[in-house]
Amino acid sequence: TNYSNGSSDDATSLVEIPPPKIRFTKLFIGGEFVDSVSGRTFETIDPRTGETIARVSEGDKEDIDLAVGAARRAFDHGPWPRLPGAARAKIMHKFADLIDQHIEELATLDSLNAGKLFAWGKAIDIPSVANTLRYYAGAADKIHGEVLKMSRELHAYTLREPVGVVGHIIPWNFPSTMFFMKVSPALAAGCTMVVKPAEQTPLSALFYAHLAKEAGVPDGVINVVNGFGPTAGAALASHMDVDKVSFTGSTEVGRKVMQAAATSNLKPVSLELGGKSPLLIFDDADVEKAADLALLGILYNKGEVCVASSRVFVQEGIYDEFVKTLAVKAKDWVVGDPFNPKSRLGPQVDKNQYEKILAYIEHGKREGATLLTGGKPAAKKGYYIQPTVFTDVTEDMKIVKDEIFGPVMALMKFTTMEEGIKAANNTRYGLAAGIVTKSLDTANTVARSIRAGVIWINCYFAFDNDCPYGGYKSSGFERDLGLEALHKYLQVKSVVTPLYNSPWH
Ligand code: NAD
Repeated sequence: TNYSNGSSDDATSLVEIPPPKIRFTKLFIGGEFVDSVSGRTFETIDPRTGETIARVSEGDKEDIDLAVGAARRAFDHGPWPRLPGAARAKIMHKFADLIDQHIEELATLDSLNAGKLFAWGKAIDIPSVANTLRYYAGAADKIHGEVLKMSRELHAYTLREPVGVVGHIIPWNFPSTMFFMKVSPALAAGCTMVVKPAEQTPLSALFYAHLAKEAGVPDGVINVVNGFGPTAGAALASHMDVDKVSFTGSTEVGRKVMQAAATSNLKPVSLELGGKSPLLIFDDADVEKAADLALLGILYNKGEVCVASSRVFVQEGIYDEFVKTLAVKAKDWVVGDPFNPKSRLGPQVDKNQYEKILAYIEHGKREGATLLTGGKPAAKKGYYIQPTVFTDVTEDMKIVKDEIFGPVMALMKFTTMEEGIKAANNTRYGLAAGIVTKSLDTANTVARSIRAGVIWINCYFAFDNDCPYGGYKSSGFERDLGLEALHKYLQVKSVVTPLYNSPWH
């Protein structure tokens, strides 16, 4: 059976890889790998087969207590926040170099655990995280406040101090990228931290903890506690000794994290949440290029991307031609084993996600949308789904309103620019948007009119360490990346002092 989409041989056949070295499966607390207090473990699976690849220590409230305790001591009494920025930077550079020395092993872990393409992990994800560390290492010795006032009576200045112990709660779709988007700016700021990776992808975070120790990050500065959301995650969000929570995940869980913060010590939170990002393609666009961008926007990382362009709006003049081109080009997106170099989409992360996406596809069909391509499982075994495009879609359909987090595009037509903008903004989310046009006027007008945190003009997924990203509306607040993210791990203190001739004397 030809299950894969477009290729003549079945790319989903299991690629035999050398037995993976899964070296770290315990919790990492206070600089040591330790069992969980309860002794419990949970299984982590390979989404290519659904089979267990390792059992990992399952952290719970007691383990979070221990990890927060270690981070608290490292912050209150340890060297990390007190080191000169340049000394922190030196260790962060060493950490980045060690990542560079283990790219294949790290990319293998993320491919095995999350179904991510090995070739892309090796070329993009893992080298990029080392560079994220280097970017923030470069900022570590440039953290300073301002002189506010030098009047005859008062001298005042601000200090930027690390916010303290940070709880990072992260999702599974980019296990390495998410880890370093959170950890790198917090390290540069001088914070200590507890990371709670997603239960689907516990492996690479433990490897990074080991490399951090080897690089000289002091014990207690980075702690990693794997475990489930309602137990370990909730304990971290509500912990009285955590000074800030930085969360990336779904809007529903983001709400719970904020509630937990509000009802515990009123810690500030930063939330990077879900999306249903629009891509607007105008009549003057090059149809071939626009179709390539639209497919990249929804199929990259099998659609498990918060900024995926899941709603595509095409202006009526090129709509028919666009649909034809898209249907042909979708066939190039071969579904297959993430270790097969031909594959462009691996399996969805797990059974839950796979079943959820297929249920959305069924719902779309029942609501009356038409399948242009895909719509089915792409293999007998493993969690593979065909690239799926729906046409005849209306804005009230569930497949247009909800974040599906899979390779499922809803394609719609618009007439005027105003109508396109209105439709693009018709969502509770506001994470990203794309615009394809040759007109500078159209591009700039639409960019200003869309309520989203990132706008890509004639490109998509163009990320840079220096470019902050995050959401408007229910997609969250505060930003990852850029110097914006450094500032979310710092707080401002004002210092005021009278001068010798002031009336205060
Ligand atoms: P999720 O919200 O289910 O889980 C995210 C993390 O929260 C996991 O570590 C989980 O264990 C933890 N968690 C679950 N319940 C919790 C609770 N009650 N208290 C504390 N922590 C809890 O999300 P997911 O399924 O892992 O990831 C997919 C979602 O993440 C999508 O909605 C996607 O859009 C979003 N996402 C957003 C961004 C962004 O930057 N905005 C990036 C990637 C993913």
